[in-house]
Amino acid sequence: MDYQQVIENIYQEILPYAKEGKQATYIPELAKVNPDQFGMCINTIYGESASIESADTRFSIQSISKVFSLAMCLSIKGDELWKRVGKEPSGTKFNSLVQLELEQGIPRNPFLNSGAIVMADILLSTLANPEEDFLNFVRAVSGNNTIDYNREVAASERENGYLNAAIVNLLKYNKNIDNEIERVLQFYFLMCSVEMSCRELSLAFLAFANHRRKFDYAGITLTASQVKRMNAIMQTCGFYDEAGEFAYLVGLPGKSGVGGGIVAIYPLQYSVAVWSPRLNAKGNSVMGLKALELLTSETKESIF
Ligand code: GLU
Repeated sequence: MDYQQVIENIYQEILPYAKEGKQATYIPELAKVNPDQFGMCINTIYGESASIESADTRFSIQSISKVFSLAMCLSIKGDELWKRVGKEPSGTKFNSLVQLELEQGIPRNPFLNSGAIVMADILLSTLANPEEDFLNFVRAVSGNNTIDYNREVAASERENGYLNAAIVNLLKYNKNIDNEIERVLQFYFLMCSVEMSCRELSLAFLAFANHRRKFDYAGITLTASQVKRMNAIMQTCGFYDEAGEFAYLVGLPGKSGVGGGIVAIYPLQYSVAVWSPRLNAKGNSVMGLKALELLTSETKESIF
């Protein structure tokens, strides 16, 4: 498959959508990003690579970081993790309080903010140097030591993170947070602030695309079966309350973030990342979604 040609054609086809949607502004630092950017990069497990436009521009990965924290928590806790967080799609907004209250502080899945906040708490309780260890893992899985947090983004989110503060309080009230809530919130926001490019994300996610390769990065190990299950959670829960739509239109497991990034994998074949800051009403990148829909339609490659 000539992926370079495929994505060049796709880029032309999605240009009419370039002004659709709006970037996230509830995190003031994200509002400063030029919304009119697009990047895309595919890496196959055989070492082929194709990229286009701003594939090397770093952006805020935001909720995509939840895949990395899930890998760490699964490695550390194994199935014990599921006592504190579920693995069912929510059908609700990523920062909703309603379901969390009804379900007595057990988040539906690890990719909701509530689920990721519980995972931040677990990492704080189990790692010697959580901030350093998380970054080391992301760097190791990406094969790139220059990846870093953006502390301004994290601080900007903390200053305005009223809803996430409500979530951590509700979790703590239900005894699903062990650490001090301010510490948990700050670590959660810091993990969300990691910046990576499409190329870097796509290379990092090859570790999930190729579950037959040994998963062992900076001391974080997963079995092939655990990697396969992470992909299942990406498939059912990776796209906010649009996971069904993503499965329908694209048909690949993946994860999106409010920075406008989406990363998806075609197991045992490739990993693809797209980025464009303008989001639809559900919080997913408009051009990113369209590009991935066209990718799996035009190549006729999807898990379905
Ligand atoms: N840091 C963001 C928040 O907590 C992440 C949201 C996202 O990317 O879905 O609201």
